[in-house]
Amino acid sequence: MTVVVSNSEKLEELKNKIIKDGVENLHVLADFDRTLTKAFVNGQSRPSLTSVLRDGNYLTQNYASKAHEFYNKYHAIEIDTNIPHQKKKKAMEEWWTLHFDLLIKSGLNKKHLKEIVNSGKVEFRQNALELMDILKERGIPLVIMSSSGLGGDAIAMMLEKERKLYNNIYIISNSFKWDKKGNAVEVKKPIIHVINKDETMIKDFPEIYKKIKDRKNVILLGDNIEDLGMIIGFDYKNLLKIGFLNENIEENLEKYKKSFDVLILNDGSINYLNNLIKEL
Ligand SMILES: [Mg+2]
Repeated sequence: MTVVVSNSEKLEELKNKIIKDGVENLHVLADFDRTLTKAFVNGQSRPSLTSVLRDGNYLTQNYASKAHEFYNKYHAIEIDTNIPHQKKKKAMEEWWTLHFDLLIKSGLNKKHLKEIVNSGKVEFRQNALELMDILKERGIPLVIMSSSGLGGDAIAMMLEKERKLYNNIYIISNSFKWDKKGNAVEVKKPIIHVINKDETMIKDFPEIYKKIKDRKNVILLGDNIEDLGMIIGFDYKNLLKIGFLNENIEENLEKYKKSFDVLILNDGSINYLNNLIKEL
């Protein structure tokens, strides 16, 4: 079984409320890496767009070794549940800042983003492109919120490649300033990292906030428990949470069931959501 419902009674109730309020009161809020994309491509674990850059030969040799050094140091902090929140937040800020500085020093160019997007190493989740079409048809905004180390430009390119960069899609992520030659020269502050990724960020994106502030019913998509933080700061009415539990299923199942209303296991298709939205 690929779909797990945490509490079917509660889910039915929630679905009915959302259906009753209609599409005009709904928006979808989604994480990007491993939520809208597959966690595994050709049997290879693919944590993020950034990991393609880190593991490939796109930039200087020095970039790869330094980036791995940062990863080894800070990823351990990221996943250590014993480290207090504030301390972790500070460390993640440090990591993202160091990594962006390194990218800029190592000559990151827009062409590298294109190469990564075209590498075939990252793919959209099964039926995710259909989801984009369904949301577009029904005029439902899709807010993609990502702490991506390659920023929103790479996400936009992924969508553009599939001709799905529709005008109901809004990307909240990091962004580089590029010079005329396409070199990254600066990254916009505040940096969005894995801990501060929440909808309060929308205050820094007022144009996007305007589009969704009256759409108080939200379907949230994430593959990490931390992704639930994306809704913090948004005054929602009904919130339906869909979690993608891509791996280590047995040890995480109970925790995820407590956190999400519906779980999609085994890096499965997003079709459950497509069918749900078709019901609206
Ligand atoms: Mg993710």
